[in-house]
Amino acid sequence: MSEVENIIIIGSGPAGHTAAIYSARANLKPLMFEGFCAGGVPGGQLMITTEVENYPGFPQGVTGPEMMDHFRNQSLRFETRILTQDVDEVDLSTRPFKVISGGKEYFSKAVIVATGASARYIGLESEKAFMNRGVSACATCDGALPMFRNQELIVVGGGDSAMEEALFLTRFAAKVWLVHRRDVFRASKIMLERARAHEKIEFIVPAVIEEICGDEQVESVKIKMLETGDVSQKDVAGVFVAIGHTPNTAVFSGQVDLDEKGYIVTQASSTYTNIDGLFACGDVQDSVYRQAVTAAGSGCKAAIDAERWLEANPL
Ligand code: NAP
Repeated sequence: MSEVENIIIIGSGPAGHTAAIYSARANLKPLMFEGFCAGGVPGGQLMITTEVENYPGFPQGVTGPEMMDHFRNQSLRFETRILTQDVDEVDLSTRPFKVISGGKEYFSKAVIVATGASARYIGLESEKAFMNRGVSACATCDGALPMFRNQELIVVGGGDSAMEEALFLTRFAAKVWLVHRRDVFRASKIMLERARAHEKIEFIVPAVIEEICGDEQVESVKIKMLETGDVSQKDVAGVFVAIGHTPNTAVFSGQVDLDEKGYIVTQASSTYTNIDGLFACGDVQDSVYRQAVTAAGSGCKAAIDAERWLEANPL
């Protein structure tokens, strides 16, 4: 067996890096795997966020990638070892835990899971092409950008997130069109009624976006009405996709308790999972708040939980 680590951190968003900074400063010499889950690059969902204006400490705002650069540099400053590779497999039934990545086995007394969640997208080529140029999966992150102010915008989806994003966007937009593929909604009655009653929000249902068009950035969308098959073009400056998130838990499936949506279950007010020595933080265990600052907060909790657990449970 190769060297046994104290802590392996899987994931490199705000939760993973905060866990790294705290555990490194506690002299636990963490090993981090930064993989390619959300957005296809290490760093998590912030790597696909244009501007972060709600993270305390950045009064002028900061781009998502720049912020992740700061997080990463701070982890490195305290000598976190970072491997830029996906984890392919974990074995949580053995002690120490086994983590397999790039064909190599790694062993650790404790593991912190911070693999996050990935926003779901419609799956259009044009959606990919206009990512960060008018297409966003986060109104809270991007909605207040100058490019969307006093413009007409589209929100796609029929759940609470779609209603919430549409309502949030009314603060800046001239008009918000809510496009949903059915005329029944998963959203709670109260959120749906609030959106329906808002003078700036109009529903287009049942309908789907067929194509997102523009030159440098989004200028219009083609919308297909599903009952008639009619396709029309609407001038909009932005498309906010709010069709849910998928937690990145595939490698842990069957080994740790997940909820019905696939999120790792943590014990109330802590980052403990049902597996002794396995901790989870950030969006992989949070389908409700999903903010960089809440993820970072839970990463701190995971490092403290793991440190105390290691002290009480020498291998
Ligand atoms: P959700 O409830 O799963 O809703 C996803 C929506 O996206 C559904 O309307 C679904 O349509 C649609 N959709 C899925 N795939 C699609 C596709 N490929 N193309 C077009 N539409 C698609 O997800 P969510 O709204 O993100 O909410 C997640 C959880 O967080 C829920 O439990 C929600 O209550 C909670 N939440 C609560 C609040 C709040 O209380 N303030 C705010 C946000 C979220 P179909 O219905 O046709 O499947």
